[in-house]
Amino acid sequence: MSAEYSFFESVGTSFDKAAKFTKWDPGILEQIKACNSVLRMRYPVKMDDGHIEVIEAYRVQHSHHKAPCKGGIRFSTEVNQDEVMALAALMTYKCAIVNVPFGGGKGGIKIDPRKHSAYELEKITRRYTSELVKKNFIGPGIDVPAPDYGTGEREMAWIVDTYTTLKPGEIDGYGCVTGKPISQGGVRGRKEATGLGVFFGVREVCSMPEVMDKIGLPLGLEGKTVVVQGLGNVGYHSAKFFREKGNCKVIAIAEYEGAIYNENGLNEEEVFQHRKATGSILNFPGATNITNSKEALELPCDILIPAALENVINGENADRIKAKIIGEAANGPCTPEADEVFAKKGIVCVPDMYLNAGGVTVSYFEWLKNLSHVRYGRMEKRFTENMNARILNQMEELSGKNMAEAERKAIMHGPDEVDLVHSGLEETMVQATREIIECWHKNPEIPDMRSAAYVVAINKVATSYSELGIFP
Ligand code: NAD
Repeated sequence: MSAEYSFFESVGTSFDKAAKFTKWDPGILEQIKACNSVLRMRYPVKMDDGHIEVIEAYRVQHSHHKAPCKGGIRFSTEVNQDEVMALAALMTYKCAIVNVPFGGGKGGIKIDPRKHSAYELEKITRRYTSELVKKNFIGPGIDVPAPDYGTGEREMAWIVDTYTTLKPGEIDGYGCVTGKPISQGGVRGRKEATGLGVFFGVREVCSMPEVMDKIGLPLGLEGKTVVVQGLGNVGYHSAKFFREKGNCKVIAIAEYEGAIYNENGLNEEEVFQHRKATGSILNFPGATNITNSKEALELPCDILIPAALENVINGENADRIKAKIIGEAANGPCTPEADEVFAKKGIVCVPDMYLNAGGVTVSYFEWLKNLSHVRYGRMEKRFTENMNARILNQMEELSGKNMAEAERKAIMHGPDEVDLVHSGLEETMVQATREIIECWHKNPEIPDMRSAAYVVAINKVATSYSELGIFP
């Protein structure tokens, strides 16, 4: 981010760069860019030692072209109004691209969660929720938070409990927040959703001859080399799916203490266990150490997956990147200066704004589950299995041959919740990738895939605003 611009202004700058390639009325574009509602809160919480701390917190609803609004809540000392506004705006565009029918929202509480006891965090979270209820800033049809930096299932359970306590009898109350534990209305398949979405998105890009011809790589993922930065939730699952489902070779994994390289491929689970046991990713059996972790980004490879932090590929190192495809699993890993270098070098950068949308997509599935009050697959699993068994039996009878047991089991299988969630996520990521690439190819003046993603988002939100008209 440039020092001259705030984060929210920077998002606006990227928006303007893409808006040039659309034909919308400037007034509509202005309305899309603006943040519709900002709630700034100050509330007191009594800490364990008896002293009172005044907590600063925010909830921003960037766009109401769809309801409810959706976006995570972060706990961080860096939280400020501008940051929450920028992140809420990005949620509007992200939801539009992956056809999740929500407006963008975001929340933040300016605290360091590591400096508070669990009881203090519970009080901070519950009071925050009650402030949102008081101002009508939360509800399954109004605004639905989710986890973000510094928050997880535990905080989401406190939020749903506070909400349903204050709004007893609201039949859809559990849809007021997503990212809940499964026992509290959460959905299976959410943990791996972002990494799996990254895999589906990059796989789709690699299946497109018009893209692969341009960068001089053969079609498909099979045998491609992958470098992953960050072995956290997103990096671990991305590596796992590229290896297991894509038959790729994950030749290097970088963590903050260093990176490891093995040209024959690494197994992320073994590396994870090694790091857990020894406290470091380095000295993994059979791998070469790279003590300066950043150098892993510059290794020759087909696909680079930054899945750790923002701004890791910038004007300083972009020129040394040798990957042909960059899949932005983290939020904001490449700077605008890096984008310019990629355009010159013909590197395809698959943008964060949609590539890491697996989490919000599966949050949408969780919300739908909460509104329907039934687990995915419960109604059809047995019916499907019984029907499949009849078809198989008939086939075997008519052909006089028996199917191999493993094959029989696979065909018989009726969908569980996790199967349906993964399948919905695959459909979402494949469609989003195709829409963006189609938009990019229709207008060769659009400089990169990131701008094409913005154009797709702007067109969808603008269509919504223009069809709805202006009240009164
Ligand atoms: P995480 O905390 O689980 O993992 C991050 C990992 O990166 C950690 O293992 C950390 O040690 C490592 N790391 C830190 N500094 C590093 C460095 N300098 N070099 C190499 N590795 C480093 O976080 P996560 O949930 O996996 O999120 C990663 C990124 O993906 C973030 O940008 C996040 O905003 C984004 N994201 C996450 C989700 C999600 O569902 N978790 C969804 C969308 C976007």
